[in-house]
Parts: sequence; structure tokens; C-alpha cells
Amino acid sequence: MNRRNFLTAAVATTAALTVAPVATALTVQDRIPVPTPPVMDETTLNTMWGTYGKHGLTHCNGACPQHQLRWVRLVDCETSHLLAILATQYQIAYTQYPRIIKVILMNRGFNESQIADAVEAARSV
Ligand SMILES: [Zn+2]
Repeated sequence: MNRRNFLTAAVATTAALTVAPVATALTVQDRIPVPTPPVMDETTLNTMWGTYGKHGLTHCNGACPQHQLRWVRLVDCETSHLLAILATQYQIAYTQYPRIIKVILMNRGFNESQIADAVEAARSV
């Protein structure tokens, strides 16, 4: 290797080395992948839920004006309502409702474990 070739190789090596630290300059936070919540598809956005309101069934079986059956989109329900549905509406097991509600909750920042804990807490209220 003559002097000119050596210098060219040295410059190329130096250039490569100066690029590397940029990647390692990322913080630990940058390198931890943030889980992407499941997509809220048309089914998730449009699934309806019939409700008599809190304690509407035990109050009057939906007969009084305050507890008439209303249809609401699940995606429009409060988080506490969604958790209460998962915690108390056992008839939805083996339907799409639990999955859809979990997709909505995950898009509100919950992970699977947090949903399970919140449902357990809602059962003991
Ligand atoms: Zn009532």
C-alpha cells in the first residue's frame, strides 16, 4: 500500500467511525419499541352497546324515564363503563365484544395486564 492509498483508506475508515456514534447516541428510551395499539377498524368504531344506565336494570328494569334503553357506540363509552362491561356482563364471553373493548382500551393507553387488573378492580366495586 503506497502513501496515497493508505491515506484514502484512513479517511474512509475515519468517516465510517464518525457515523457510528450517532446510532449509539440514542437514549435507552429511544431503543425500547413503543407497542403500537391495535387498529380501530370499522367494526371497532361502529359496534353498539345497549345500556339502561348505571343500575338501570336493578332500579326499574328499564321502565322509568331515567333508565330507558339507549344505544351507544362502544367507542363513545367512558373507560369506566367499558371496564364495567368487561367486569360484569358475562353474557359477552365468546362474542366479539371483549376483543373490541380491549382494542378501544389499548388505544386509550392500557396494556393487556392493566386491563386485567382494572377489570378485577371493577368487579370488586
Ligand atoms: Zn329506573
